[in-house]
Amino acid sequence: MDGGCKRTLQAQAAQSAQSACTRKAHNLRVAACVLRLFFLGGAVFGDYPLIERLDPRKDITFDQYVKNVEIGRQLVYNKERVVEPEDAARILTIYAYKPLGNDDFYSVQARCPVGAQSIATLNHIAHPDVLTGGAFAGGIILLPSIPGLFVPLDITGKNANDLEKLMAASRLTEAQRDMGAVITISGNGKKERFLFIPGATFSVTEAAFFLTFGKSGASFQYPLRYFTLTSSFGVRRNPVTGTVKNHDGLDLAAPLGSEVYAAQAGVVTDIGSDSVYGNYIVIKHEGAWASLYGHLSKIEIDLYASVQAGDLIGRVGSTGQSTGPHLHFELRQNGKAQDPGKYLFKSN
Ligand SMILES: [Zn+2]
Repeated sequence: MDGGCKRTLQAQAAQSAQSACTRKAHNLRVAACVLRLFFLGGAVFGDYPLIERLDPRKDITFDQYVKNVEIGRQLVYNKERVVEPEDAARILTIYAYKPLGNDDFYSVQARCPVGAQSIATLNHIAHPDVLTGGAFAGGIILLPSIPGLFVPLDITGKNANDLEKLMAASRLTEAQRDMGAVITISGNGKKERFLFIPGATFSVTEAAFFLTFGKSGASFQYPLRYFTLTSSFGVRRNPVTGTVKNHDGLDLAAPLGSEVYAAQAGVVTDIGSDSVYGNYIVIKHEGAWASLYGHLSKIEIDLYASVQAGDLIGRVGSTGQSTGPHLHFELRQNGKAQDPGKYLFKSN
């Protein structure tokens, strides 16, 4: 890119900002924000300004970020002029945000005008639900100023999540690479390269994948159509024995005889009756995952049968250690109980 082109682009970006904000002082205000940020020694994460609150009235850095996204959006969604990926990459700025305890992916992306796909791909997020709860509360999330997709270039094979493998297959081919520019992100002392594709959005397949598949393909649908969650995963007092112990699954209350469905495709590897679980079914899935369905009144599947997600396998009951009709649903990976809430999604 030559200097003239660069100037046009910068002028355009400035113009965009001005048209978006009727106040003439806009550009000055943005400049003042930047200055204040550094004069106050504003918090940073590595090379990036750190946002502490996703509220433009309470956090000057976030206010600055929102204005930057406004400029970025006008740049990539300008119908008259297609932006060159290298030009967008030069203008791209990254901010860091440390999620608060009650944040999840949905709440963060809802407040950031750059969009869910940009945030997800820059942060290796394969599925919005997997992050619900504490999973990402301890880390830092990076927020880009320009909408687009970020395809990792340094992580491949086993280390990439399934969404990234899917993106790599279609977007890193020789023909497609020109759609993006290589950028380097540095954080926590390590550097990482991405192909930044400004303005790009998920293909239908990628979108379906993002919404329905979790990390390593670990996504399960709810085993009941209608239910009330009566006990979640974790420590609780056993309602029958009164002792405090870990609850390894979810208790989903539903009327006696309600249909129970396989949460994911797999093979039925165990059917039995147990003093605690009552009549139960175990299904083995890919990736060393297994699901368990307990307290059933009736078994509707044969041992060693292959099932698809959503197949009828049994009926809700109150057999074993149970105070009323409900399904005890467990997910285990390599034999270790996992919080089903992180991997379940609602099917339509
Ligand atoms: Zn239970």
